[in-house]
Amino acid sequence: MRGCIPKKLFSYAAGFQSDFADSAGFGWKLQAPGFDWRVLVENKNRELARLEDVYRSMLRSAGVQMFDGYGSIVDAHSVTVNGKTLSARVILIATGGTPERLGIPGDELAITSNEVFDLPSLPRRVLVVGGGYIACEMSSIFRGLGSSVTQMLRGDRILRGFDDDVRSHLTAEMEKHGIEFAAETRLQHIAQGKTGLHLTTDRGGSLEVDCVLLAVGRVPNTRELGLQKLGVMMAANGAIVVDEQSRTSVDSIYAVGDVTGRIALTPVALAEGHAFADSLFGGRPRVADHRCVPSAVFSLPNVAVVGLTEEEAIRSHEEVTIYRSNFRPLKKTLAAGPGRTMMKLVVDARSDKVLGCHMVGEHAGEIIQGFAVALKMGATKADLDATIGIHPTAAEEFVTMRQATRSVTRSGVVAGG
Ligand code: NDP
Repeated sequence: MRGCIPKKLFSYAAGFQSDFADSAGFGWKLQAPGFDWRVLVENKNRELARLEDVYRSMLRSAGVQMFDGYGSIVDAHSVTVNGKTLSARVILIATGGTPERLGIPGDELAITSNEVFDLPSLPRRVLVVGGGYIACEMSSIFRGLGSSVTQMLRGDRILRGFDDDVRSHLTAEMEKHGIEFAAETRLQHIAQGKTGLHLTTDRGGSLEVDCVLLAVGRVPNTRELGLQKLGVMMAANGAIVVDEQSRTSVDSIYAVGDVTGRIALTPVALAEGHAFADSLFGGRPRVADHRCVPSAVFSLPNVAVVGLTEEEAIRSHEEVTIYRSNFRPLKKTLAAGPGRTMMKLVVDARSDKVLGCHMVGEHAGEIIQGFAVALKMGATKADLDATIGIHPTAAEEFVTMRQATRSVTRSGVVAGG
């Protein structure tokens, strides 16, 4: 949870830049706003310290004894920490993940999301490597705060696994914000030069930047836990294999969150932990539900999604109907800057059930959270049509998309474009 909060705070900070720019169209006359990186870092540290105190005091008042240190599991019921052995009927592992590195020459000159929010100053020129959640968010943060940003992708596009329309729309919007993409390019070498970091790629080009941020995935934190010795089953990437009750192959050992390699999202880890506690200690056995999990990317602009992508829906349904809208929201109409919003519904043509709901645009996370409830309850397109919109908002578009964009089956588009 500590990683998400700094990123969101920095993302808010970055978002002000376009608000300042947009305000001119609404009559505001501002002097060029200045930004102080150190103030943001200090305020973020203060907020994290406050949250840490709140969480620790909540745990203390719940009667939890805490031991700060690196733990190692020595048998099915014992853990050592700081030379002390603790025994328990059940052990729960929730050690999360850690950023992956590239292992190229000069790799140690690059930073990851672990270090980025404590940099001494805002780097002027940044290379972000990766195309996933963290890479898109970090490119957007640096660009919003005023750095020049290049995002390097080994593939052809960002956000693999997201809906194709989301991927294309976000790429176009990020480009309008001034982020440059270097697609199908691999970083090969980083060297410290007099005026910055010299980068070499497999495309033969060279680039100089002040900061290289690696965002190439995360690996589960299982290396030092002593799990192999105990025979706890693990996947090739080190993730702990668990059943739906979050139980490992050793009966008394459980694991939740990113360390299990299921869905690496904070609220999912919380749900897994909650189900574990209810089942083992609350007398209410249940499993965490991993279906229909909404998520957001806090990029420029934000992305939020719940349910199936068009590509996934076509693989699992006979025919799907797509409703898509691409518009300039009212708040952007008087502004000079970029800011088109894309919304998309993926609907099962047979049952009319809404299978997926996707948005790229301002406040996407806030809007999709509500639609996640509707999808979880099995909403149909007719239910959305019967819902009255709140006018004039961007969100109302989700309940006023009457005209299908296209109908698609596994063999291709059957109607529309
Ligand atoms: P992701 O798995 O989302 O993305 C990893 C990216 O790194 C992909 O674009 C991948 O490329 C690229 N990549 C992997 N290996 C290499 C390599 N050797 N060279 C170049 N590129 C490489 O990881 P993230 O680190 O972004 O995030 C980790 C997880 O944390 C996410 O899966 C998400 O669940 C969670 N998260 C959620 C957030 C949120 O909810 N807002 C925010 C941040 C993280 P390719 O696409 O080609 O595979």
